[in-house]
Amino acid sequence: MLQGLTQLLELQRVDDELVALQTEYDGLPGQRERIEAERSECEAQLAVAKQALQDTEGGMRQAEGALQDQEALLQKLEGQQFQVKSNDAYTALLSEMDHAREAISEHETKILEHMEAIEQTRAELEEAEKRAAETRARLDAERRAIDARDEECTAEIARLQALRAEVLPGVEGELLSHYERVAKRRRPPVILVREERCGGCRVGIPPQSFIEILRAEAIVTCGNCSRILIHADKLEPPAGA
Ligand SMILES: [Zn+2]
Repeated sequence: MLQGLTQLLELQRVDDELVALQTEYDGLPGQRERIEAERSECEAQLAVAKQALQDTEGGMRQAEGALQDQEALLQKLEGQQFQVKSNDAYTALLSEMDHAREAISEHETKILEHMEAIEQTRAELEEAEKRAAETRARLDAERRAIDARDEECTAEIARLQALRAEVLPGVEGELLSHYERVAKRRRPPVILVREERCGGCRVGIPPQSFIEILRAEAIVTCGNCSRILIHADKLEPPAGA
């Protein structure tokens, strides 16, 4: 009679949990990277919105400076009106003053346009800041959840490994080595049989093999997928067997 079939099933249950946990644990760094990438993207968008406002404000200052220059010029020209001696010089002065007034009008129009642009980019920046605050809060929460899950996984993996070490001595050596071999390639490596069919690959079990499974005197494996086949009835507590 094979020893340790119940323990083998228990080992498989522990290993299934371990594999699932380890897979989740191994995926955590990728999740952290995704979060940090999203955070960078969010900060980059915010920086673009800030830069846009700075640019429009810079354009505004330039237009204001140009306006002041033209206003000063006009004032200077107006002061010269009473000093010109000839008609030609007076005509030229009036033409210069007209040019200055046109320029002033153009700069005033530009300033109005800049004011609108600033209003819009400021609203966009506020929107971007709001979005960034929400994104940061969400990413911080996700990050904390991942850190918490990291700790949970680490503790649970340690607990299961300790449990595995307890179960392991109960499984017969040959059975164990066969189990380890199959487990590397297929999960689950052990199949509980209730009918003449392998539950892992669905291939039928030959009658002779099925009789051997029922006897449970030697390891019987599926001819197709090599999984260990155990009959459900053979899983009585070994202490009573
Ligand atoms: Zn099979």
